Amino acid sequence: MRILIDNFTKTFGTTTVIRDMTLDIESGEMLALLGPSGCGKSTTLFAVCGIHRMNGGRLLFGDRDVTTVSSQDRNVGVVFQNYALYPHMNVFENISFPLKIRKESKADIDAKVREMAKLVHIEDLMERKPAQLSGGQQQRVALARALIRKPDVLLLDEPLANLDAKLRLEMRSEIRRIQQETGITAILVTHDQVEAMSMCDRIAIMNKGQIVQLSSPSEMYNEPASAFVAGFMGNPP
Ligand code: ADP
Ligand code: MG
Repeated sequence: MRILIDNFTKTFGTTTVIRDMTLDIESGEMLALLGPSGCGKSTTLFAVCGIHRMNGGRLLFGDRDVTTVSSQDRNVGVVFQNYALYPHMNVFENISFPLKIRKESKADIDAKVREMAKLVHIEDLMERKPAQLSGGQQQRVALARALIRKPDVLLLDEPLANLDAKLRLEMRSEIRRIQQETGITAILVTHDQVEAMSMCDRIAIMNKGQIVQLSSPSEMYNEPASAFVAGFMGNPP
């Protein structure tokens, strides 16, 4: 589904951290929000998922204006760096939890969880508790739980930050595969330009609460619009 962030402004007290941000994310696209720490990436994701109220602007999911819609009434899937799995529940219970609160039938839940487990390759882990899983396996479970309700948008905030180098490489391509197989619109927040380049269709570079360039990965690298972008992409003039 197309996601439109239109003239978004966010303030905390007297400090404006996002100023008049407009970002039009195409249906089925995976877009990277890339920028240095503190530039406002997470704040933007929190506004899209409804944790933060917007102080100005509009948010559209398709034709639906969700600007003032509560977090529960938006259909978003989130995987955050520290978005922990429920430790006392096994993998099946973790993934099925979002359907249980919607009171779906046991047969429907079983079928959907099985389909999702197959997609993220964790079919043989259903009885395990999170503590008995590797970091990569936990991230697969988190993805399955985020996708189980077929959300309008998948929001990923530094999903690979807690993984070691080898797992990070593996999960880069796995997240991209899962995004492409489901065709879901996704926003990936990262401060790692290689991650953004290798995983996403387009990159929006942020600095100090504003988008300074929006391009394809190769254009961002080869034709940076400013010294800031060039430096950040690791290709200074
Ligand atoms: P990023 O995810 O790009 O590292 P954030 O979106 O977390 O950056 O933060 C952007 C700015 O907003 C930072 O200066 C941060 O200190 C500030 N900020 C974030 N959340 C809050 C909050 N709840 N209250 C006050 N300031 C905040
Ligand atoms: Mg952040």
